[in-house]
Parts: sequence; C-alpha cells; structure tokens
Amino acid sequence: MGLMKRRDLFKAAAMALGSIWEIRAAADTNHQIHTALGPVPPADLGRTLIHEHVLVDLVGADRIAPRRYDGGEVLSVVLPYLKQLRSQGCGTFVDCTPAYQGRDPDLLARLSQSSGLHILTNTGFYGAAGGKYIPEFAFSVTAEDLAARWTGEFQAGIPPTGIRPALIKVGVDAGPLSKINSKLVSAAALTHLRTGLVIASHTGDGLAAMAQLDVLKSHGVSPAAFIWVHAQDEKDRSFHRKAAEAGAWIEFDGISSETVDENIGLIRETKRAGYLRRVLISQDAVGFHVGEERGGYCPGYTFMFSDFLPQLRKSGIDETETRMLTVENPRRALTQSN
Ligand SMILES: [Zn+2]
Repeated sequence: MGLMKRRDLFKAAAMALGSIWEIRAAADTNHQIHTALGPVPPADLGRTLIHEHVLVDLVGADRIAPRRYDGGEVLSVVLPYLKQLRSQGCGTFVDCTPAYQGRDPDLLARLSQSSGLHILTNTGFYGAAGGKYIPEFAFSVTAEDLAARWTGEFQAGIPPTGIRPALIKVGVDAGPLSKINSKLVSAAALTHLRTGLVIASHTGDGLAAMAQLDVLKSHGVSPAAFIWVHAQDEKDRSFHRKAAEAGAWIEFDGISSETVDENIGLIRETKRAGYLRRVLISQDAVGFHVGEERGGYCPGYTFMFSDFLPQLRKSGIDETETRMLTVENPRRALTQSN
C-alpha cells in the first residue's frame, strides 16, 4: 500500500485538467469502494452497517495521540464482536470515527483481515461539541486548504498507511452553523466534487441539516451526496421529510434494545411518506472507549440482525424493504448511484 496505481495517477492528472475531467474522474470512483484492505466492487458490500465505531477517543484534538491506547488490546476486545457480526451475514462495517477522535486505518485493516468483514474508513473533521475535536490549524486555513488535504487522503491514502477513505465524515452542532462548522461543510463539498465520496455529517438538529444542504447547494453539490447522521435526534419529523424530499439521506443510527419502538415508528413513518429509499439505519455502537478499563462497555454489533430486523419485519416492513435498508440504500449512498 502507499504506492499510487497508474490509474490513480491518471485520475489525479485528469482532475488537474478542470471541471469536466473532475466530474468524469469522480464518476470513475463509482466502480469500486475503497476498504481498509483495498478496492472491492460495490456488489460485494452486502449487508452493511453504515455507522459504527471500532474505537473512540474523546480526549480532544489538543491531547489526542496514538500512544494513548494499545492497538493489540483494542484488537483483542473488538475482534470477537466483529466475528459475531460477520457470522450473522453482515458484509460491511463502516467505521465513522474521524481523525482526532481515534481514526486508526491500520487497526481497521487488521480487524478486517481477521474478521472477514469489509471495513471502511473516512476523511474529514468533526466540528460538533463546540470544536473540541477540530485541530488548531483548521481554524486558520481555508475550506480550500482543508479540501486539498482530504482529497489528498482519497488520492494517495491516509498517511502513512496508504489506506483510502470511502466517505467524508464531518460533524456540526445545532443550527445555525458556526463559522468553523460552515467551513468544514464547504470543505466537504469541495472534496466531494473532486472525489465523488458521500458526505456523512453528524448533525445537531434539523435546522443544521437544512443549513448544510444550503452550503452544499452553494457549491453545486446535490443533496443526494449528503447523509444526515443522527436524524433521529430531531423530534420535529417534518425536517426528515423536507430533507428526504430534497434528495438527502436520512440516517437513523441509534438502534439499540432501548430504542426499538422509536426506530420502528420512524421507519414506518418514512415508508408511509414514501421515502424509504432515502433511509439508512445503524447502531452507532462503540467497541472500545480509549481511557476506560478494557475499553469500557461495548454493546456489540449484533443487535441489528439478531433482534431489530426481525421485529421490524413483524411491524410490516417486508423482506424487499428490509433488504433495501440494509443492502441497497447503503450501497447507493456509498457509490452515489441511483
Ligand atoms: Zn457515531
């Protein structure tokens, strides 16, 4: 890993030629998904958990460091959970831990190798929580500078690993958007235009979701390139409908034993309103919390397939629709195809 393939060099050169080439190069990325172990055809993703975490370190961008945890220990704690998930027939695990919150592509590659799951990682910065996870330099550089950095990770891999991101992950607090959050979303938009990667954004509320769609629009980016992460936190459901009708992805990612009825209700409502095709579901489970004894409490990743989906089926969401939620929608979001 680390060496650019000839085709990638060509793509990088093509991108330099201008916007038409940019669009063609971005479209070209639809033919493969970059996993921690390299590219795979989209059809190989299978059942996908679109928003989970192997590990999270919440100490803050000013104090985070790789030496704060032992990768071997994280592996020994998390691998059994991933193996259980794989044995349920799950094909792909999307790791949504961004840089400065514990993103560790090498560890993801080891876990993928040992579990048999495809594992995807991301580029981007998390701007929610008042900016605690934004590195200092990001406040003084431009959106263009940030986009150049994130696009570089897509083209050459995340230094020093060479592992390429499969999505852009950012985060914003409740709306209206702060200056720095608006800059992160602009940077995500510019990165999307150059890479074709979908933008998943941890979003404080419905107001922030709509504000982000406005920022994307100002850059000529389609709402279909945007995943509203944690949409379940917005209690005014009319925002879901508005965003979905605009073409954005609505992600209900808080699925656990405590939220079954709420999530079944949310999904049934989207079906009634006719936009099940824009919905993504996941658990947002964390395998290992850095700084806690043996990583603290982990719920595992199996609840979706062992409990939630059977209950969802009983509520009237049929086999085809369940497949749409777990296989087709994640694949369409990640490949930006319809
Ligand atoms: Zn998360």
